Amino acid sequence: MKRIIVAIDGFSSCGKSTMAKDLAKSVGYAYVDSGAMYRSVTLFCQRNGLIKEGVVDETALRERIDDIHIEFKFNEERQRNETFLNGENVEDEIRTLAVSSQVSIVSSIGFVRRAMVALQQSYSKDKGIVMDGRDIGTVVFPDAELKIFLTASPEIRAQRRYDELKQKGMEEPYEDILENVKQRDHLDMTRAESPLRKADDAIELDNGEMTIEDQRRWLLDIFKERVK
Ligand code: C5P
Repeated sequence: MKRIIVAIDGFSSCGKSTMAKDLAKSVGYAYVDSGAMYRSVTLFCQRNGLIKEGVVDETALRERIDDIHIEFKFNEERQRNETFLNGENVEDEIRTLAVSSQVSIVSSIGFVRRAMVALQQSYSKDKGIVMDGRDIGTVVFPDAELKIFLTASPEIRAQRRYDELKQKGMEEPYEDILENVKQRDHLDMTRAESPLRKADDAIELDNGEMTIEDQRRWLLDIFKERVK
C-alpha cells in the first residue's frame, strides 16, 4: 500500500484535529497539528511583550523568530500529542481563549507563516502524515494525495469548543467563544497571506450533524480508496 499525505483544512473548531488524530492512529501515520504551531508563536509573543493592544511588534518578532522552537511529543500516559515551546509543555495553555483571541493576528504575518510552513514541510519526508490546519492542501502540501475541507455552522463549532474547554476545567462563556469563532473565520478568510479557502481538489464535508464515529468511518473509507 502506498503512503500518502492527508491534508485536512477547514474553519476553526470544526473537529479537524479529532478526525486527523483518529485517522493517523487507525492507519499508523504521524499526526501534525499546524494550528498548535501558530498558537505557540502567539503564546511566545504574549509572554515576551510582543503584542500590545492587539498589535504585534513585527520588527521585534522577526528578530526573535529563530528563538522559537516548537516540538510535538506523544504523552503515553495521557494518550495525546503535546506541544512544546522551547522545551516547555504548553499544550493546555495554547488552547485558552487568551491565545485563541490573538492567534489570527499572529498567523497573518508573512514571515511567521513562511517559518511555520517550512517546519511543516520538513515533517513529510517519508509521507505517511496527516496534518490539519487552514492552508495545508493549498500551500503546505498542494500535491497531497487526499485533501479534506471541513465545515459546520459557527454555533455548532462554538458549542464543541465550549464542551472541550469545560471538560478540561477551562470553561469560558459560550457567547465569548462564538464571537471568537466568527472573528477567526473572518480574519482567516480575508488575510492577504494564505487565506483559508478550499483547495480545488479537496473533498468538502459539513460535519455539523455527524457523530465522531460517522466521520471516522467516512474518512477511513476515502483513505482506503486513495491508497489502493
Ligand atoms: O486549528 P486551530 O484553531 O488551533 O488554529 C488556530 C489558528 O491558527 C487559526 O485560527 C488560524 O489563524 C491559524 N492557523 C493558520 N494556518 C494553519 C493552522 C492554523 O493560519 N495551517
